[in-house]
Amino acid sequence: KQKLLISRDITSYERIDAMRRDFIANVSHELRTPLTVISGYLEMLSAESEIDLEMQRHALTAMTEQAARMQHLVEDLLTLSRLENTLNKLNESSVDIASILRELRTEAESLSGGRHTIHLGIDSEDQILGSREELRSAFGNLVSNAIRYTPEGGEINIHWEVKDGKGMFYVRDTGMGIEPEHIPRLTERFYRVDNSRSRQTGGTGLGLAIVKHILNRHQARLKINSEVGKGSEFCIQFPEKRLISKQ
Ligand code: ADP
Repeated sequence: KQKLLISRDITSYERIDAMRRDFIANVSHELRTPLTVISGYLEMLSAESEIDLEMQRHALTAMTEQAARMQHLVEDLLTLSRLENTLNKLNESSVDIASILRELRTEAESLSGGRHTIHLGIDSEDQILGSREELRSAFGNLVSNAIRYTPEGGEINIHWEVKDGKGMFYVRDTGMGIEPEHIPRLTERFYRVDNSRSRQTGGTGLGLAIVKHILNRHQARLKINSEVGKGSEFCIQFPEKRLISKQ
């Protein structure tokens, strides 16, 4: 029995160690790519004595974009490490979900820039016991993904209701959809279905990992339904004990 326990401990240690190595390799890779672009342009700008204005502008734009990408990644990494720290207690209050949704609609409209139709449905005034900042960030991540993975002309539905004693937040899109085999892995850090599409739209690959941690802290669950070419539905379910009835 003792022996079995030790060998199981070693396997789980090895697994955790492999995950840690994977994570470091991913972070390094994600940082190296923008750094390579920036140093390339810097080298060009300092080596050549006469560079036309158009080229200078092009280099500056590219460097600014890559610096923003690194900044976004570092911010997501810090958020993730804060959420993973179990000593960090949840800052709880009664959170008005309807008000978060109205704020997110405005944000979604600006992110979409008129390329999508955005619908908002609020069927309940019930609130949630939790952290406003964290819930806003989790909902916001799902809304921005819906926009980023839905081509122009698509529709985004944001919805809040209470059903069978559960609080349900939905984001539905008419976007590209996700193949079933990817769905269970989407909340893993840096897991992406399509790397280039994610990066092009400013993704760090950490959004859904952050969402998962926030939901765990609220005993909430994430359900994903999707059909390739038709669209996706991301649903967050809050347990009854988190609901604060306003009826
Ligand atoms: P990213 O920054 O790459 O968007 P996320 O963790 O937010 O990272 O999402 C992980 C992956 O899940 C994305 O790269 C994308 O492949 C897929 N995904 C997330 N939301 C959607 C969606 N609404 N429609 C299609 N694919 C999605």
